[in-house]
Amino acid sequence: MDLIVQKFGGTSLSDEQSRRHVLRHINRELEAGTHLVVVVSAMGRSGEPYATDSLLELARLNGDALPQRERDLLLSCGEIISATLLCSLLCAEGIAAVALTGGQAGIFTDGRYGSARITEIKTERLNMHLSEGKVVIVAGFQGMTPDGEATTLGRGGSDTSATALGAALNARIVDIYTDVDGILTADPRWVNDARPLSAVSYEEICNMAQNGAKVIHPRAVEIAMKAGIPVRVRSTFSDGEGTLVTHAQVLRTQGIWFDKTVTGLAHVRGVTQLAVINRDGPADVQLRVFRAMASHGISVDFINVMPTGVHYTVLANDSQTAIGLLRELGFEPTVRDGCAKVSVIGGGMNGEPGVMAVIVEALTNAGIPILQSADSNTTIWVLISEHQLAEALQSLHTAFGLHLTPAREI
Ligand code: ASP
Ligand code: MG
Repeated sequence: MDLIVQKFGGTSLSDEQSRRHVLRHINRELEAGTHLVVVVSAMGRSGEPYATDSLLELARLNGDALPQRERDLLLSCGEIISATLLCSLLCAEGIAAVALTGGQAGIFTDGRYGSARITEIKTERLNMHLSEGKVVIVAGFQGMTPDGEATTLGRGGSDTSATALGAALNARIVDIYTDVDGILTADPRWVNDARPLSAVSYEEICNMAQNGAKVIHPRAVEIAMKAGIPVRVRSTFSDGEGTLVTHAQVLRTQGIWFDKTVTGLAHVRGVTQLAVINRDGPADVQLRVFRAMASHGISVDFINVMPTGVHYTVLANDSQTAIGLLRELGFEPTVRDGCAKVSVIGGGMNGEPGVMAVIVEALTNAGIPILQSADSNTTIWVLISEHQLAEALQSLHTAFGLHLTPAREI
């Protein structure tokens, strides 16, 4: 059976005009004889009645008394509303459709309310409706425990529902429809000549998503990568092909891999750098620092451990707690607030000499000090002062010629 999964985000479903675009993409695939599973997110953004943020506000009434189980039950409603509304639109057009909750679609999860993991997808019911010729609309962002309790998958989780369904049903492709044309070489709000990318590898998009690009949830990519299911990130509001995401090897054999050393930039703002110097103090300083952070659920980054002390970063939200913990341990950290982390990402940089030299040269010429750096085989991260972020992104974008990224060629 030729099957694709389409996922529509909240802004694609929020008004009548947007939903007409959704209908157009559904009709185009049906006319080509494709079977469809359509995953939906909650409608609209914060402040709009059925958006997840609005439901979260309801959950917080009564002094946060709502238990986790009931909170998930409430949050799951946003996607159920979208699924039923889309079903009514399709039925009105004479298209056979059925709307299912995550649980009804056979998506089983563990019992971690608010951040449940998918453990299994039972596809019998999905296959039954598909073989009846129906479009199967599934409420994203949710599943069900083996005991039948509704769970949610964490913010942005409907991307994960889509790729997990794609993997379970062996879909030809998972199309993630959103309000941008695809993945760009950098955030266009910061870099005015950012260019759309025709293709990126799973590793590259994972790095982008983990480092601040909000275009797709990293867990969704991991699931697609494991199953080898291609993903496309594309706009609901145009007919553009968007950005294809698959294995680098597949892109190369299809001749659509540009073999660029650097593919794109991503960034995270609101980072605080902490340095604990320990020249003559206790030998177990490293262990005590990182244990304290871990036991308070503070995620650490840019970790640099030396015999004389440790440097690392935390998100600004966590910085006061982190500083308090360090003081409790008897350390007086040096604190640098207002930092930003810039990631230079490219599947082709592995073993390629000179990438760091280009970064250092571009930033030095722009008068931007590098406060810390780190690297992996597909990414180099630099920590800079946030007030220089726009300039840093623009100079790196130019230095790597990303403004010359060719238009889609397939
Ligand atoms: N509606 C959920 C959220 O806002 C899930 C999603 O949109 O992917 O996080
Ligand atoms: Mg999303």
